[in-house]
Amino acid sequence: LIRIRDLNKHFGSFQCLFDINLDVALGEVVVVIGPSGSGKSTLCRCVNRLETISSGVIEVAGRPVPAEGRELARLRAQAGMVFQSFNLFSHLTVLQNVALAPVKVRRLPRPRAHALARELLERVGMADQADKHPGQLSGGQQQRVAIARALAMEPKVLLCDEPTSALDPEMIQEVLDVLTGLAAEGMTMLVVTHEMGFARRAADRVVFMDGGRILDVAPPEQFFTDPRNDRAADFLAKVL
Ligand code: ATP
Ligand code: MG
Repeated sequence: LIRIRDLNKHFGSFQCLFDINLDVALGEVVVVIGPSGSGKSTLCRCVNRLETISSGVIEVAGRPVPAEGRELARLRAQAGMVFQSFNLFSHLTVLQNVALAPVKVRRLPRPRAHALARELLERVGMADQADKHPGQLSGGQQQRVAIARALAMEPKVLLCDEPTSALDPEMIQEVLDVLTGLAAEGMTMLVVTHEMGFARRAADRVVFMDGGRILDVAPPEQFFTDPRNDRAADFLAKVL
């Protein structure tokens, strides 16, 4: 579903990503881990073109990621993004936040968009909070709403950049449970996270990045028990 070939990314004279090659198959969950500054967020952002790429190819669903315009909007609809900061609209209710894009972008009639939003809020365990404003919710609840909002576009893939790193410890699990549920339902996901327990349980493959390069790609059992790469082993020794 996602195909990345020979991707390089520069910020001015600084090269942030080097020769990235990665595929994410339909229904696959790929978890990206690695030290701070290794390029994980940038990789994620390149996929739906929140960042331009310097060279290489990224395809989503068989098509190169378009540079702009309506084609790019379509791609962004297919590749939903969940961020560390939830970016909900504070002046809208939870329900309105989730229903907004279906009305504005997918042009669903309002009643249908609201029905869809309620269904998705149910799925993330937030149906009973639909009429609250984001400011009245905990961080974990806001992030679950943000996930529902991303799902409202019916994306083919969900890109998650550290979806739990802004959360207090007791709220991390509720968000990870939602993501684990989506994974089990067959959602294709590319997830950047420092949650090693989630990587171990939910990932089909773990990608280890350091210094802008992918140094290892392995199934979690292998990656966590017997990392082939020395730097991955060092990293795991620090975080586990
Ligand atoms: P973290 O775990 O801290 O989130 P990361 O792996 O997500 O780190 P990135 O945010 O992708 O890392 O950043 C990779 C490198 O690119 C860093 O050295 C960062 O300083 C640099 N970088 C990121 N965004 C920009 C930008 N807009 N302009 C210049 N340099 C940038
Ligand atoms: Mg990051």
